[in-house]
Amino acid sequence: APSDLRTLLLDRIEDVPDYPKPGVVFKDITPLLADSGAFTALVDALAELAVRHGATKVAGLEARGFILAAPVAVKAGLGFVPVRKEGKLPGVCLAQSYELEYGNAVIEVKQDSFGAGDRVLVVDDVLATGGTAEASLALIRRTGAEVAGLAVLLELGFLGGRARLEESLGGASLDVL
Ligand code: AMP
Repeated sequence: APSDLRTLLLDRIEDVPDYPKPGVVFKDITPLLADSGAFTALVDALAELAVRHGATKVAGLEARGFILAAPVAVKAGLGFVPVRKEGKLPGVCLAQSYELEYGNAVIEVKQDSFGAGDRVLVVDDVLATGGTAEASLALIRRTGAEVAGLAVLLELGFLGGRARLEESLGGASLDVL
């Protein structure tokens, strides 16, 4: 049952208080990644979502999104696309800037990452304020691709990411394991 999966996964995520700065509780997924059974169950569940949502590509958000999205893509029989911090991808890229608590961040994707008719499942570990996810959805759509959905392992509900994403999701799904 899905609740058993949740228990398996959540048991292997550690809360680290005051990291990377005071007042933040960091969700550390490295114990989950180090556990073959939990990691496999996570990848299987996300791959099932990718298939269910009719995705044709899986995009991972730097950096922990890469770790999850790449095996999900392989398992689902789909290609993987990295959405990176600025200046890391060669060739022609599209860039999207978004606001952080202090200052701005820029993410990029290669312009030719997707073909006409591609449907993209976006994968990350944690949905916090939703700023990163919102920018990613906008960026992917600017390439001409369609967003099939956003899938995350964890949602920090008190930060309001889900509400922030409502408009940018449109018809796309938001799945939290
Ligand atoms: P946000 O744009 O605020 O939704 O932040 C999302 C990004 O920051 C994700 O890529 C997460 O990996 C990371 N992140 C934000 N808050 C946390 C947290 N408390 N624990 C772990 N990762 C976090």
